[in-house]
Parts: sequence; structure tokens; C-alpha cells
Amino acid sequence: MSPLDLRSQGLTVQNIKHNLGPARLYEEAIRAEADTVIANSGALIAYSGTKTGRSPKDKRVVRHPGSAQDVWWGSVNVAIEGSTFQIAKERAIDYLNTRTSLYVVDAFAGWDPEYRVKVRVICARPYHALFMHTMLIRPTLDELETFGDPDAWIINAGQFPANRHTTGMTSKTSVELNLETREMVILGTEYAGEMKKGVFTMMNYFMPRRGVLSMHCSATADRETGQSSVLFGLSGTGKTTLSADPKRELIGDDEHCWTDKGIFNIEGGCYAKAIDLTPEAEPDIFSALRFGAVLENVVYSEYDHAVDFANDSITQNTRGAYPIEFIQNARIPCVAGHPTDVIFLTCDAFGILPPVSRLTPEQAMYHFISGYTAKVAGTEVGVTEPEATFSPCFGGPFMVWHPGKYAELLAQRMAQHKVAAWLVNTGWSGGSHGVGSRIKLGLTRAIIDAIHSGALRSAPTTPDPQFGILAVTQCPEVPSEILVPSNTWANKTQFDDTARRLAGLFRDNFKTYASGVSAEVRAAGPS
Ligand code: ATP
Ligand code: MN
Repeated sequence: MSPLDLRSQGLTVQNIKHNLGPARLYEEAIRAEADTVIANSGALIAYSGTKTGRSPKDKRVVRHPGSAQDVWWGSVNVAIEGSTFQIAKERAIDYLNTRTSLYVVDAFAGWDPEYRVKVRVICARPYHALFMHTMLIRPTLDELETFGDPDAWIINAGQFPANRHTTGMTSKTSVELNLETREMVILGTEYAGEMKKGVFTMMNYFMPRRGVLSMHCSATADRETGQSSVLFGLSGTGKTTLSADPKRELIGDDEHCWTDKGIFNIEGGCYAKAIDLTPEAEPDIFSALRFGAVLENVVYSEYDHAVDFANDSITQNTRGAYPIEFIQNARIPCVAGHPTDVIFLTCDAFGILPPVSRLTPEQAMYHFISGYTAKVAGTEVGVTEPEATFSPCFGGPFMVWHPGKYAELLAQRMAQHKVAAWLVNTGWSGGSHGVGSRIKLGLTRAIIDAIHSGALRSAPTTPDPQFGILAVTQCPEVPSEILVPSNTWANKTQFDDTARRLAGLFRDNFKTYASGVSAEVRAAGPS
């Protein structure tokens, strides 16, 4: 391959390390950074500095006449002028030009060749390059030879701060997106997850424009039929954990698109939470954290570099990134047929929502737009205590269009393919956080199995008194007494009070969206 010339981007660094593989990036990372080491499992251990989660408040989007009508402006998509973007970009380029070498990763987003996006990542830390090499779809050598001009750019100068006196910036962190030029610029955060979610945000703009639904969900497929099932959910609700399922083929753990042909994964890797990871509870993920994987912000033994997965002294949000083929039953290419089931995962720290409920199409829309969960020691900077959150489409921070756009595409596809909808609570049972306990992972896995086997389609149900959804009352391998939450609370009055309080939070939150949905969807919420 001829040497890469990035002068058109203003980059004058001579030593550009273009498309290095994991072994080379390991070497570079260990030589360049004193605190980067190899774990005894073979994974590369790296640190992201002060930011150990995303910084959603520091995201900015360029307001441009070409896309201004399309974007859902507000607290998720905070508008900046093109000139502000230029200032940030130049600052990033100036910083990168002070480095003696740079890393460039060329790779794809989207497994369906029809919708594939060519992404170029430019960064100064080998760890960032390895992360994106892992998380994007790795081209073959032939595909790299003919890669040509990228469709999208990520310019990561995360080690260098933004200037907070720049118009529209409020901190030393800045994650800026220009939809016109398809560029993302990162300053003041070295959290690698910003890059992956930046690609997702771009897809969330460009895919709906082509009539394709982009989704914050994991996906698995039935080995025999090739039909899929998607699991939506906010951070920590179980998308990654529950999609690593030896009975199914893995399509992906976080970002997918639904086209007229079926679904495809956007990514080539998975990004699992590593806190309290054990080989017993999550064998597939545990064994994927080997040579070629990146472990972030974990604590390890100086003696043998064994990782202490229970140690959260750096952050609760420790993570492991690994190529998707490290999961044995991954389906390559990561595409599958239309979903038979759409599952909404919620981690309800109030302990009110049933472990599994069947939803009508209207209830599905109501819950999709609400996007409820409770944040438990989260991915975002500054969150350590549980708190109810609502995030439309179960991924508000990454949506670019108004949530109604995604809801419409989802409703239309679910109707067309007669998809069943489910709400699964992976959170608390027997009381709220502090009194009750989190539903055992094994039980949630049994619930997901029963959805996939079809057993729950005709299972007996009882309407939830507050939420109106049909709580499933009999599920193979799950004790019936936990399926109706009020039965698990010692104090019934407290249950009723808490349920009313949660229902009130749902109603308050939905007010913002009520005018944009049908009367049937409005009526599908809690009474
Ligand atoms: P993100 O969007 O941040 O990647 P995610 O939805 O993929 O989040 P997971 O990485 O799957 O979330 O995290 C779920 C965490 O909760 C895991 O650490 C898992 O071990 C734990 N957990 C405990 N009980 C359950 C349960 N009943 N169901 C699912 N996960 C559970
Ligand atoms: Mn995940």
C-alpha cells in the first residue's frame, strides 16, 4: 500500500501508521504509554484518563441548511455554527501535528454492502486505533487496497482539551459532529466509546434518510430459520450480556439497522461491561477478552496481570472490546432475517415492572418512545446512584431525527412482519433498589429463551394494574411467584405507592411526545 497522505486534512506528521494490526498496535501502545500492559488473558489493558464514560452534555452538531430541517434540536443535539466546528477541528489538527506519529484506521460500518459506510479514524493513541480496529468491521486486504476516499471521518485529539471560551462550548470536552462533511472531532476526552457512538450517531442520521431504521439494540438469530430477535435497552439493561447466548447466533451487541431485507449489524466488535464479570455467569464474554481485545480502566494484579473484575476503584464502567468473531456462535457476515420478536429491556430499580410482559402494538410504541430504565452506576460521567431515566427509542443521546421518525419506521416494520413485542425487566424484584435484589441473570435468560421458543406467545397473563401491560404469569424455568411484582413485596402499600409514583414519572415524561402520536398510543401508557 502506498503511504497515506493526509495533507488535504492539514496533517503534516510524516510518520503515519496506517492500518496496523493488533500485534503492532500492542507493541506501539506498550512502548508509548507507561501504564498500558498485557493482561494474563492476552487482552491489552489501557486507560482512558479522567473520562471513563461518555460526555453527552458536551456533544454538538453543526446547524447547516442542508440538514437543519431534519435534526431534532435541543439538549441531545445542541446546535453550533460551522465556524465553531472549524475552530475545534483546527485545534484537533494542530494538536495531532505536534505528535511524532499518528495512527489511521480504515474500516467499515454496516455489514450489508448496500449500506456500508467507509470510516477513517485518525488518532494519536495506539489504544484508540486498536479500539476502533476492533469495533468497526475489518476490511480484507483487498478491500483495504481499494478503500479509496472515506465516507466519514473521526478526528480524535482527545488528549488535548477544547477551549471552553469558544462559542457554544461549556467545558474542556467537546465531541462535535458535522453531518455535511461527515466528520467527528473529539477534544478533551479519551473515552474510546465516544468514537463508536459517533459512528452510530451518523448512521442514525443517514439510515432513516434512506428509509432504513437504525436501532440501539443487540440482535441474535435462530440457527435454523435465520430469523432474528432484537433487544433494545439503555446502558446496563443487558443488551450485550443477553445477546451472548449459546443457543442463538450472535448478530451484534449494540447497533443494528432494519432494512427491507432484514437486519444488519453496524459494527465488527462488541463492547461489554466488565464490572463483576465472571467466567461462570458470562463464559462467552469472559473468554473473548483475550489477545486482540482491549480492556479499559480495569485494575489488575502487579504479580501476574490477572484482572480484578470486581474492582471498581477507577470506575464502575470498566469495559472490554473484542472482535465479534471472538464469540464462538457469531454469525459472519452479521446479517439476519426480519425479527420475530422485539424485546425492550429495562432495568427497573423501583422493582415495579413485571419480569416479562406482552405488549400490544400501541403499548410497544408507548414504551419505545418512553425508553424507561433506571440508571445504576452508569456509563455517563457523574452518575453513581440509581435514578429513573427516560430516553426515547432506548437511545436518546444517539438519535438525530425526532424520536417520532424512528417510532414510525419501527411501527410500520413490526406490523408488516407481525412481530411480537415484549417488555423485560432485568432490574429489581422484591422491592426497590436497597430492599429487593436484581433479578437473577439465569432467570432473565430463561425468559428470553421462552420468548424465542414461542412459549410465551400463548402463555397466561394478567394485566398490570398500573401499566395495563400483560404480565406473563407462567414461564418455563421461572418460578411463577416472581412474575407478578406485587407478590414479591413484603409491604403492599409501599408497592402501590411506588407503582403510582413510577406511573406518574411515565406520564410526565410522555407529555413531550403526546401531540406527535395517535390517541391509541397516548392511551397505551399507565392509567
Ligand atoms: P451498554 O449500552 O452500556 O453497552 P448493555 O445494555 O449492553 O449496556 P450489559 O453490558 O449487557 O448492558 O450490562 C448488563 C449488566 O448487568 C451486566 O454486567 C450483567 O452481568 C448484569 N446483570 C445482572 N443481572 C442481570 C439480568 N437479570 N439481566 C441482564 N443483565 C444482568
Ligand atoms: Mn452493550
